[in-house]
Amino acid sequence: MVVTIDGPAGAGKSTVARALAARLGFRVLDTGAMYRAVALEQLLEGGDRVAIAAGDAWHRHLDDAAIRTPAIDEAVGAVAGDPAVRAALHAHQRAFLADGRAVAEGRDIGNVVWPDAELKVWLDADPAVRAGRRSEEAGAERGALALERDRRDAAQTVAAPDAVVIRTDALTVDGVVEAIVRLVEERRNG
Ligand code: C5P
Repeated sequence: MVVTIDGPAGAGKSTVARALAARLGFRVLDTGAMYRAVALEQLLEGGDRVAIAAGDAWHRHLDDAAIRTPAIDEAVGAVAGDPAVRAALHAHQRAFLADGRAVAEGRDIGNVVWPDAELKVWLDADPAVRAGRRSEEAGAERGALALERDRRDAAQTVAAPDAVVIRTDALTVDGVVEAIVRLVEERRNG
C-alpha cells in the first residue's frame, strides 16, 4: 500500500507523514527534502541542476539541517519549477514507491507521481495557521516565506480529484494521524 500526503507548506505534512509511517511500519518519502537537497548541492558545487537531479550526489544532503534554511527556501523555487528536474526526481520517487508500504509526502504525489495510490490525503489549513506553524518550527522569517512559497508553488500543488481532504487547523498531530489510520483500515478492509 502507498499513502500519499500532499498539501501546501505548513499544513503539517512532514510531521504527520513521519508519525503515520512509524505507526504503520511503512517507509517514508519526503519529496520536499529531495528538491531541497538538489538546490543545496547546486549552491555548494555549482553545475547544471538537471544533471544534479539525475545523479546521486544530492542524496548526502537529505538529512542535513542545511536544507531547511531561508537560503534554500529561496533557491528551491527555481529547482522545483524546472520540468526536467521534476522528471528526474519523479523517476527516483517512483523507484522508491514501487516497493510499496510507504507514506509519500509532497505537492504532486497523488496526482502526478503515484496516481494509483491506495489512499490519497490532502492536508490543508488556514494560511495564518500554516504561517504560524512554520514560524514556531523554524522562525518568523521562514514562516512568512512559507506563504510566499505557496504562491510560487501553486502550479505544483494540486489535489488529486480522489484525495480525502483533511483540514488540520483544529486538530492535533495525533488527531490527524488517527483519522488517516482509520482511512487506511477502511481501504484495507474494503
Ligand atoms: O515540503 P517542503 O517545504 O520541504 O518542499 C520544499 C519545496 O520543494 C517546495 O516549496 C516546492 O517548491 C518543492 N516541492 C515540489 N514538489 C513536491 C515537494 C516539494 O515542487 N512534491
